[in-house]
Amino acid sequence: MTRLAQIAQQLDKLQQRIEAAASTAGRNADEIQLLAVSKTRPAEDLQAAITAGQTRFGESYLQEALEKINALSHLRCEWHFIGPCQSNKTAAIATAFGWVHSIDRIKIAQRLNDQRTSNQRLNICLQVNISKEASKSGIEPSELPALAEAVAAMPRLHLRGLMALPAAEADFDKQRAAFAQVRGLFNDLHSRGHQLDTLSMGMSHDMEAAIMEGATLVRIGTDIFGQRPDKHKPSA
Ligand SMILES: *Cc1c(COP(=O)(O)O)cnc(C)c1O
Repeated sequence: MTRLAQIAQQLDKLQQRIEAAASTAGRNADEIQLLAVSKTRPAEDLQAAITAGQTRFGESYLQEALEKINALSHLRCEWHFIGPCQSNKTAAIATAFGWVHSIDRIKIAQRLNDQRTSNQRLNICLQVNISKEASKSGIEPSELPALAEAVAAMPRLHLRGLMALPAAEADFDKQRAAFAQVRGLFNDLHSRGHQLDTLSMGMSHDMEAAIMEGATLVRIGTDIFGQRPDKHKPSA
């Protein structure tokens, strides 16, 4: 099988998984977007996914991401930055990406706002750190309302929702419990008047649980492109 056929088949299987999970959750599969997490993958793999109809890509490592964005600039893609976002990366991220999922500090949001020159606002998800998150990133739930308030007031940013990256967990009910916490925080921001439409949660191993708890965007790498050879951890 060619690489293109392989990737097309994986995308197809994923769409079926999303539909099955949505159906179990009593939801419409159209509410759930697939973000293909393409960190560490060569541009050829992304090209294959694009040929198979995929348009949204998530990247974590700025330098390789910029190379791919440049190589594929003649194609219509939506680029999401999902990795740790430090000050020295904000200028490039604000220019090259349409979305950032990993905002957990006002200072970084402010820099992105100041450095965004496009007419279109930069879409933002705030990363929350729930129960023993795998990485140290993410804002504490108690500090979330203040961060949301600050980001919502920045004119070149568009606050869209929340992102979470819970610790790897094999048990389905425990996966759900973690995602339910994120949904609770999402609902809380809604009740404070924020108009949010994006709940970015669920990866290859816990996508079904995330969809049960209301995910509107799942971030999938391994189950599209195969195991990452270099064992990069999520968000490392
Ligand atoms: C790598 C990564 C993913 C994808 O993980 P898979 O297990 O390969 O599906 C999702 N989200 C974030 C933030 C990541 O860093």
